[in-house]
Amino acid sequence: MNMEFGWKPEQEEYRRRIRQALDDLLPADWYEKWVPQSYACDENVEFSRQFCAGLAERGLLVRHWPKEFGGEGGEDWEQFILAEEMKGAGEPRGGQYMNVNWIGPTLMRHGSEAQRAEHLPRLARGDTVWCQGFSEPGAGTDLAALRTRAERRGDVYVINGSKIWTSYARRADFCFLLARTGTGRKEISVFLLPMNTPGVSVTSFPGLTKDGHLNEVFFSDVQVPVTARVGAEGAGWQIITDALSYERVGVPRYHVGLAIIDHAIEQLKAEGRYDDPVMQARAGLVVAKFEAARMLTYLVVDQRVKRLPATTDANVARVTALDAVNDLMNFLADFVPDCLAGGHPLLEEYYRINVPAGITAGTYELQLDLIAQRGLGLPRG
Ligand SMILES: Cc1cc2nc3c(=O)[nH]c(=O)nc-3n(C[C@H](O)[C@H](O)[C@H](O)COP(=O)(O)OP(=O)(O)OC[C@H]3O[C@@H](n4cnc5c(N)ncnc54)[C@H](O)[C@@H]3O)c2cc1C
Repeated sequence: MNMEFGWKPEQEEYRRRIRQALDDLLPADWYEKWVPQSYACDENVEFSRQFCAGLAERGLLVRHWPKEFGGEGGEDWEQFILAEEMKGAGEPRGGQYMNVNWIGPTLMRHGSEAQRAEHLPRLARGDTVWCQGFSEPGAGTDLAALRTRAERRGDVYVINGSKIWTSYARRADFCFLLARTGTGRKEISVFLLPMNTPGVSVTSFPGLTKDGHLNEVFFSDVQVPVTARVGAEGAGWQIITDALSYERVGVPRYHVGLAIIDHAIEQLKAEGRYDDPVMQARAGLVVAKFEAARMLTYLVVDQRVKRLPATTDANVARVTALDAVNDLMNFLADFVPDCLAGGHPLLEEYYRINVPAGITAGTYELQLDLIAQRGLGLPRG
């Protein structure tokens, strides 16, 4: 398949404007104080409201959305330019990257008129925080095993159960919630649940990713109107399959990885230590893998822009990026063990988030399963 690798002048201009906005909107101590405390912590999530509102005012937040929903009818490439620049700055959008990437587009496709009217302008303004209520104890990779139940009683549903690992839940205004509405394995529905509804409670627990990512959400006789359900009852599986397809290539990890390896090489050169051929070969391998991840990601975006059917290229892109990050971390541990001191300002957060990066949105092993079965046609099991 032919691919066009050059950026258009208007895309370069869009990137330049995003960089200018980062200069204007980020506090002077962003890299020293804010980035190390994790983009999911309460303070950063609150900052994301102000930051994303600033991006929205400049017409930069949802440019790839259709005009009728507050965007400029841009292409998926613009979503990736934004994602690269945001990731390269330590993701100041916090959890609002989900709003832009998949929550908004999913509501455009499956939401009722009233849901679109209520939520899309707020998402496009950049001041609303959402959390994703999918995983439960015992229902992660096997999401269809979820047990949180929504029982219809007249004009309301009554929700009982719990979610786990719900990033941003403590500060979220709404939850994009999956709950069981029937007895069949995939009889699941989606609800747009205000987090301040009586009966919703959140507790947090500690972990490598620092505060803000790891929460449990409990639902005790939570009542939501029937109008909070997205699509038909039981249509949740199709809706989240669509939603996750917007996230197929996910986060541009290669963008930060390349900046960190460049920084490490500069550090080694400055110390007069970059003359070891083994070190150079290992660095070359890291760069080559990140570049491969970048090209695979661009291939998937290109397929998406051309409305071609989804393939396992997205899974290959993700696995390649995760492998490249591991190679980078091994390189740093072997040759630049003091890299946290004076190293790249995103390195610590990048390291912390790399561990769950192979877990969230489909584990590393699951990606390999999908490549084996769907891409290579190998038998299950
Ligand atoms: C930091 C962090 C943030 C998260 N944020 C959210 C969030 O905001 N919202 C949300 O809903 N969820 C969130 N998650 C949850 C995440 O989506 C799940 O952890 C993930 O789906 C894996 O599910 P699990 O933890 O139940 O592990 P399991 O599914 O039990 O997997 C355990 C191990 O078994 C392997 N395994 C399981 N099934 C297969 C298979 N079929 N083939 C091969 N290997 C398999 C897995 O690869 C893994 O190594 C988050 C997780 C983390 C770590």
